[in-house]
Amino acid sequence: MENTVIFQTFEWNSPSDGTFYDNLAAKAQELKELAVAAVWLPPAMKGVSPFDVGYTAYDIWDLGEFEQHGERRTKYGTVWQLRACIEALHEAGIQVFADLVYNHKGGADYTERCEAVPVNPDNRLEEVGKPREIEAWTGFNFPGRQGQYSDFVWNFNHFTGVDFDQLTGESGIFRILGENKTWAPDTDKEHGNFDYLMNADINHSHPEVREELIRNALWLIEEFGYDGFRLDAIKHISAEFIKELQARVRERYPETQFIGEYWQGSEAPLSAYLKFTDYNLRLFDVPLHFNLQAAASDPDYDYAKLFAGTLLQDSPLNSITFVDNHDSQPGQSLESWVAEEFRELANALILLKRDAYPCIFAGDFYGLEGSEYGGLGERLRLLLELRRDYAYGEEEVFLAEAGAYGIIRHGDEEHPGKLIFAFSRNGERELEVMLGEEYAGRTFLDRSNQEAEVEYRVDDDGVLRCQLEADQTVYLVTV
Ligand code: CA
Repeated sequence: MENTVIFQTFEWNSPSDGTFYDNLAAKAQELKELAVAAVWLPPAMKGVSPFDVGYTAYDIWDLGEFEQHGERRTKYGTVWQLRACIEALHEAGIQVFADLVYNHKGGADYTERCEAVPVNPDNRLEEVGKPREIEAWTGFNFPGRQGQYSDFVWNFNHFTGVDFDQLTGESGIFRILGENKTWAPDTDKEHGNFDYLMNADINHSHPEVREELIRNALWLIEEFGYDGFRLDAIKHISAEFIKELQARVRERYPETQFIGEYWQGSEAPLSAYLKFTDYNLRLFDVPLHFNLQAAASDPDYDYAKLFAGTLLQDSPLNSITFVDNHDSQPGQSLESWVAEEFRELANALILLKRDAYPCIFAGDFYGLEGSEYGGLGERLRLLLELRRDYAYGEEEVFLAEAGAYGIIRHGDEEHPGKLIFAFSRNGERELEVMLGEEYAGRTFLDRSNQEAEVEYRVDDDGVLRCQLEADQTVYLVTV
């Protein structure tokens, strides 16, 4: 089987002109040739404006079909452009993942009076005022859609909290009161309880809400042919609900893939989540992202610890490795950008290492709009080709120390070529890679050097010797 990747097709500042789906559809064949097996599309659901990246989910049943919040289309296009895009991707044999924003809703149609209590933003279990009546933006009846696909009208019972009281003009976190109503207990423990993230926080313990969301996910598969879901902000959503969502979707569509965004730099909560959800989903490898960021900023970083505490090392089958995403890019809410001089190496590390399922970022493909960063261009293409053609079989780490790292991929029956990937960031190094006598006399070509054909010959003892300059990277492949 071929080595494949997922492609995150958008960055935060992708153009808002409604041509996104058309442009992506036109690239389907090119992506297929680079072994992209699946694309992660931006949230298709209607947000609060045509400039909304999609994470202020207003209407989960309007994918750019109804005149709501100022425009029929979303930032990315109309529902008809979306359908054509999915069709083009499917024709090229690429799977399509939808981004499900099921934690909160924004852009309510009207306010409602309800009982609520203000809580401490740093410890949401602590009440910092008396229960009182507030005026909350929790009424959603979607006048532009008129009940098509779903006649569900959202009210304050369907939400656990809001961040604004219209009555007093006060901002804060207000927990909405009701019988047996609390923050979901099975969310992240940061800030006491991290159920609340933003906007009107959905109450996943409400049976009608659960049915509405599950029905929506099934409809997305039935109507649009999605092959999987990227679940937004799951550390803020009842884990038990996510478990049921998966089970109910897979009951009807067993092949559906789930990738969760659980933004947490330490591995323990991620491992606990995987265990609780019976290892039925994959999680973005956030600990590895932070390790890559640390390595990027330190030329003497110790590569012996790069994979310590990551999902790639401890739960490889459930790990989605990535370098950055639309939230971690400069200026965004989870900013933790891997420095530009290290981006090629960071991508090489996730693409050429064994195991996991890497997700490459639109920002590295095309650059970040409105920034100096123009992406990796041909260098990323090279890495994808090396992954597709050579990153198979056993892996041997022959160098892992302060400032330098090196691995060899031995290939497999279908892909017998060998790949040696090594770099030094803090000085010259003499590499000696033992390949065995059967490789004596064989030649390796350095694909990193695209200007000249630099070759290395394995000596009679089966050792490949290569002088690495400071800040040099080699991708040596058998010829
Ligand atoms: Ca929540």
